[in-house]
Amino acid sequence: MSQNSIHPLPERSYEALLIDLDGTLLKLDQESFARSYFEAMARLFSDRFPPEEFSGHLLASTMKIINCKDNQRSNEAVFFADFCRRLKTERAALDPVIEKFYRHEFPRLRSWGRPRPHARSVLEAARRRGEKLVLATQPIFPPVAAHERLSWGELTADPFDLITTLENMHFCKPHPEYYLEIAAKIGIPPERCLMAGNDTREDMGAAKAGMGTFLVEGEIIDRGEEALPHDYRGSLTELAELIEASFQPAAS
Ligand SMILES: [Mg+2]
Repeated sequence: MSQNSIHPLPERSYEALLIDLDGTLLKLDQESFARSYFEAMARLFSDRFPPEEFSGHLLASTMKIINCKDNQRSNEAVFFADFCRRLKTERAALDPVIEKFYRHEFPRLRSWGRPRPHARSVLEAARRRGEKLVLATQPIFPPVAAHERLSWGELTADPFDLITTLENMHFCKPHPEYYLEIAAKIGIPPERCLMAGNDTREDMGAAKAGMGTFLVEGEIIDRGEEALPHDYRGSLTELAELIEASFQPAAS
């Protein structure tokens, strides 16, 4: 682990691991993936909207949920209210097209993803030692998209107690509200949660909710906007070692 990591913090033990997917458990060419995602979705709507106009709306509605902090409306509700207004259409008209997209088009994006060595050993270590395991992926996609991306990394949803999705969350990274909502859902105080991910802003934002943070090396995203401190930094193998050392044994 790098020299600015503190390993282990003797007074701190964790009861839950939150872990990011893209660039953390899954090797992903994020730029190409995002471009192909927008292009493929726009293609399905090309009989009604010019692709560039459609992509603009999709991006704007996605940004709307990332920035919205309304605890009364799920990300799904916020997204579709905005998206339907922009496209001047009803949700019922969109659903069949979007379902078709996730069934037939989204799986074709798998060429941008690859398994990351040792991803599975982190999850196995967490399962052995931790009481809760959360796939803390940005909740802008329906569950089917998380399951599909997990499969690109040769992983499954089985080990997770919670996967954050468009439908079950009211907030997004990097807001502390996103992390607090997870802590409340799994019933573990934030200071007993460790968030691991590759994004210096989105994932390390968990610190603002009082969680421990582990910056996972390999595909670090640092936009240089806001350098948030992290408690640990290292490889997936080192994360697995930290879990073995700092997590409370699961009650038998
Ligand atoms: Mg990531």
